[in-house]
Amino acid sequence: MRNVFQRIGDGFRRFMTGRYGSDQLGLFLSMALIVLLVLSMFLRFWPLQILVWALFFYLWFRMLSRNYTARARENERFLSLTGRIGRFFRVRRSRFDDRKTYTHFRCPGCGQELRAPKGKGRIRVTCSKCGRQFETKV
Ligand SMILES: [Zn+2]
Repeated sequence: MRNVFQRIGDGFRRFMTGRYGSDQLGLFLSMALIVLLVLSMFLRFWPLQILVWALFFYLWFRMLSRNYTARARENERFLSLTGRIGRFFRVRRSRFDDRKTYTHFRCPGCGQELRAPKGKGRIRVTCSKCGRQFETKV
């Protein structure tokens, strides 16, 4: 029995040789596919069914693709997009976390976001980005 499984495993490895396989985008697509699949079981909504099939074929197309550079580029674009989204939320999160101890404001010159400890009254600020000096109340 072990031999059979080994042969299947070897065959699969040989089949996948030179093919792209999985990456972060592939993982994300698989999870999206599972979520949509579950949704489509409850909602009889035909565009959703089409989306599930499209996602399914795209996922397999990417895994079996031999065009490594094109797939890697897609994954890179995906990673830079998710990185930007992650940063967006991290910035808001940290601003929310220190809202009791810091006042946040923007530089009138360049719009750079700045912060200073709360409760010091009027202070003179030098922008860390453009060097402009201005007064603000914290
Ligand atoms: Zn500035």
